[in-house]
Amino acid sequence: MKKIYLKRGKEESLQRFHPWVFSGAISYFDQEPEEGEVVEVYSNNKEFIAIGHYQIGSIMVRVLSFQQEPINQAFYEKRLTTAFNVRYCIGVVGNSNNNTYRMVHGEGDNLPGLIIDIYGKTAVMQAHSVGMHEDRMIIADALKKVMGDAIENIFYKSETTLPYKAELGQENGFLLGGSTEDIAIENGLKFHVDWLKGQKTGFFVDQRENRSLLEHYANGRNVLNMFCYTGGFSFYAMRGGAKLVHSVDSSQKAIDLTNANVALNFPDDPRHKAFAEDAFKYLDNMSTPYDLIILDPPAFAKHKDALRNALKGYSRLNQKALEKMQPGGILFTFSCSQVVTKDNFRTAVFTAAAQAKRSVRILHQLHQPADHPINIFHPEGEYLKGLVLYVE
Ligand code: SAH
Repeated sequence: MKKIYLKRGKEESLQRFHPWVFSGAISYFDQEPEEGEVVEVYSNNKEFIAIGHYQIGSIMVRVLSFQQEPINQAFYEKRLTTAFNVRYCIGVVGNSNNNTYRMVHGEGDNLPGLIIDIYGKTAVMQAHSVGMHEDRMIIADALKKVMGDAIENIFYKSETTLPYKAELGQENGFLLGGSTEDIAIENGLKFHVDWLKGQKTGFFVDQRENRSLLEHYANGRNVLNMFCYTGGFSFYAMRGGAKLVHSVDSSQKAIDLTNANVALNFPDDPRHKAFAEDAFKYLDNMSTPYDLIILDPPAFAKHKDALRNALKGYSRLNQKALEKMQPGGILFTFSCSQVVTKDNFRTAVFTAAAQAKRSVRILHQLHQPADHPINIFHPEGEYLKGLVLYVE
């Protein structure tokens, strides 16, 4: 196996089990590895530190293990068994009311670069690193072995998540089975999953618990679900007894998906309407007296350099919603940017409240659910944050 030697002192974060080796930490290779190859990482004193997938870029090694062990199907079976046990412990496996959950959450499950979401009998697998792409067949075999009858299909979807330059000829397709059943259930509500063309693995699985909380606030309210995508928050609001629900997204495809999902659960229900429009324009022009608004925008900052502008964006967006909110209204507001910390986000919303001159109380502080666990040595894994506000 090829070996990578670090510069003096650069092993410190790895000794604290942080799972990334940055390009600046590397001193030399014994032999240049191929992208996706498994390599061993050594300190400058030639002590073994870790083993992981090599890739060209700012993160050069994603650590799979801090022990000297072979990375083969048995390795993946071991990791996937732990991940499955964690989901059992949380209570998301074998729940007839909910067959949608995240089975593998990258670094959170000590498998950096790998995401697996479960929709009923179908696992949707996504590689975010070349190494996981190369290993996809043994991972699929390991997954079937660990999950047994719990899954019948494995759909691989990495066309948009792998580095373009690696020229892997990425493709989307079934590695196992091939069912076209595309309806899954979250907390008793149905939705279509578009594995092929949908964002992420087809649905935003990470908002399950926050949608449930929203349901409890919806009774009798006029609800605006801004950035609705597949309409998750909308059909929960309807089940919660909302008076009316308006879903808004700039993408017509998202609006079509939302309408289809609402119809699956509440056919011909006149309470729901969906609009393909830009969020900022809609908020400027709206006249409906909303008293429950959800703001769940896409990540405003993908990198640290975009942080300042992203925070301004969150402030501006929240200010517009707060200015128009009816007295006694509730705002569910989120950020899914990894580089925006909980404190950053709270400050941005604080600025929005001050500028909108509204008295605001924080009722809940929200985050990603337990099936998106955070590896304690990898704080970057805490990406979803939200606030529920009471607007006087
Ligand atoms: N709340 C959703 C997930 C939102 S994803 C859920 O629970 O599943 C973010 C969505 O914002 C995408 O569907 C994207 O099309 C939409 N979007 C991006 N920019 C927008 C804009 N300027 N105005 C309105 N929608 C936008």
